[in-house]
Amino acid sequence: MSEEKIEFNRPYMTGKELYYIAEAKFGNMLAGDGPFTKRCHRWIEETANVKTALLTHSCTAALEMAALLLDIQPGDEVIMPSFTFVSTANAFVLRGAVPVFVDVRSDTLNLDESLVEAAITPRTKAIIPVHYAGVACEMDSLLSIAKRHGLMVVEDAAQGVMATYKGRMLGSIGDLGAYSFHETKNVISGEGGALLVNDQDLSARAEVIREKGTDRSRFFRGQVDKYTWQEVGSSFLPGELTAAFLWAQLEQASMITDLRLTAWSFYHDSLETLEGEGLIRRPIVPKECGHNAHMYYILLHPDIDRQAVIESLKSHSISAVFHYVPLHSSPGGLKYGRAHGSMDVTNDVASRIIRLPLWVNISNEQQSRVVQVLSDSIKLQNNSF
Ligand SMILES: *Cc1c(COP(=O)(O)O)cnc(C)c1O
Repeated sequence: MSEEKIEFNRPYMTGKELYYIAEAKFGNMLAGDGPFTKRCHRWIEETANVKTALLTHSCTAALEMAALLLDIQPGDEVIMPSFTFVSTANAFVLRGAVPVFVDVRSDTLNLDESLVEAAITPRTKAIIPVHYAGVACEMDSLLSIAKRHGLMVVEDAAQGVMATYKGRMLGSIGDLGAYSFHETKNVISGEGGALLVNDQDLSARAEVIREKGTDRSRFFRGQVDKYTWQEVGSSFLPGELTAAFLWAQLEQASMITDLRLTAWSFYHDSLETLEGEGLIRRPIVPKECGHNAHMYYILLHPDIDRQAVIESLKSHSISAVFHYVPLHSSPGGLKYGRAHGSMDVTNDVASRIIRLPLWVNISNEQQSRVVQVLSDSIKLQNNSF
């Protein structure tokens, strides 16, 4: 019996991608910062209500720009969760900083704001909240801690495009925010990202850092008569073909989010019974968070063998996956960072999480099959403990 394969992710195409790429090609606009890039900038600035948005070639690049903008120096410390992607830490380690890992909340799996203040030292420069699964961190608390201690806040909103906290778009709340348009995210351009900047002075410097450390952007606007090297920078901008692809996606970002939310809710309703039986825990979304259905995950009861569940899904051609190896216990984290306090919640959730297939237009039949196989596998194990 062969069952239809259910991939973990299927990138969604709106249908206009090649059309806009052709437009860029026939317009002979291939390098960065052409008309499509500008359209994407305005769209993000208006949608997220942020002073400046700058496309980058990845979220990783946007985070690296953030570290340069904050003038991070060797020995500086940045506070972040350990339960995140490597780029959150790497961007700052590249400047010689020490990532200080703080445990996450057991409900949202986001940085536990109640533990942050105790991790601050005289060398702390910034707090890096990561909005896991597009569910916002407790930003008001984090912002007030940052204010009290004179720290900057850089939101890793890689997973948070179109998600909100108290009505504000993620990525627009801290001093700086970073988006990802990687193929595995909600709105995509293959590889891609953006840096969101709220502060006027930081905006001007961000433009320079992104253009190899030169004032080329000002030159193109006719504000200076030649462009020269101003400060340390690199090439962080994507080409126009990437921006053209992204434009086709941004135009439909609301629809993409709505369709993902429909699929997310289907899982959420279908898995209520298993949660009631104490076999899994479903995601928790605080009421002030408008999430974007970036992912649907469950936490298995500690006595359930996760690998066996993943294998049994796989034997039915369903791809479900676990997530981060916590940074504090990874070789890189041990070398470059340090944990502040207990990492019990991080270690616990990292060992029990499974992410289920979710994409735009996944069918109810496909989702029902995932739920069925998952339930069967979990219940089979439950009978033996
Ligand atoms: C995907 C992701 C990144 C990296 O994004 P890229 O665009 O691939 O560089 C960084 N942080 C988090 C939390 C992510 O999920």
